[in-house]
Amino acid sequence: DLFIKQEELTKLVNKIRPAAKKGRMASYIPALKESNPNDFGCVIYNGTEIIEAGDTDVLFTMQSSSKILSLALALMDQGEDTIFSKVGMEPTGNPFNTVQALEEENPSKPLNPMINAGALVVTSLLAGDTGEEKISRLLGFIRELTGNKTIQVCEKTAASEKKNANLNRSLCYFMKSHGILTGDVETILDAYIRQCSILVSCEDLARIGSIIGNNGKNHKNQKSIIPAHITKIITTFMITCGMYNASGSFAMKAGIPTKSGVSGALLSGLKDGTGIGVYSPPLDSKGNSAAGVPFLEKISDDYNLSIFSTYRNS
Ligand code: GLN
Repeated sequence: DLFIKQEELTKLVNKIRPAAKKGRMASYIPALKESNPNDFGCVIYNGTEIIEAGDTDVLFTMQSSSKILSLALALMDQGEDTIFSKVGMEPTGNPFNTVQALEEENPSKPLNPMINAGALVVTSLLAGDTGEEKISRLLGFIRELTGNKTIQVCEKTAASEKKNANLNRSLCYFMKSHGILTGDVETILDAYIRQCSILVSCEDLARIGSIIGNNGKNHKNQKSIIPAHITKIITTFMITCGMYNASGSFAMKAGIPTKSGVSGALLSGLKDGTGIGVYSPPLDSKGNSAAGVPFLEKISDDYNLSIFSTYRNS
């Protein structure tokens, strides 16, 4: 059984919904400003049961929530040694698009794969001769995880981000000059932006989260889609770096492995194989969903979901 009943979820969504008013829409990607700030939806799925509340029929772009999936696929493609020779494992107190952290590390390796610098390197390391090939492989992977064959890139959002991508472009050139990133910067940038622009629903996120929570295995046939040791790596990054420089407080208050995106997306996987997908576009000062964060904190508190809670299931 799911840990929460349908009526309870509806109540919780309605209760937390007003928190979105305190947030602000992401503006540096113009297309994101066109989302409806009032949308707030949540889907919970555990492999057998699915419940939803709020505005769950909306599609939105994954943005940084895609970073755990590009990382999983890059690890499957290249192995841990190659990936972690180019990108670190340490959390940062700096914002996700930080330039500063790159200069502090020696030899200019990005601190972790969840900040933009690290994610750009990860995308560059996906197998595939062209950006197109890398992204079509990533799309195939995400379609397998969600069981949703219609998942596509929102080219409009990608084009809008591409026009405003000088910070990510400069991160690439910086890393290229230090030999961390190899290849053509525009191609890598393009692939990364298209990855961030993959369109999903709350249900898609919940299905991905449920597989992550199920050690990377499909619930139906127990087929491994993400090897268990890689699922462990991405779950660890979700806890330590998944909410950017709010990861510590979120780990403390919610303790749910979660990756956020500036679209207002939140992708969570609980260790019992339950996935939670949340969407609410206004953001807090750290770039996380302003209503989504307190929603997950509340649901964790009410249902004892923290992976750090000794009392869970006892
Ligand atoms: N595409 C966005 C960027 O690179 C993703 C950032 C995010 O979701 N935090 O700026």
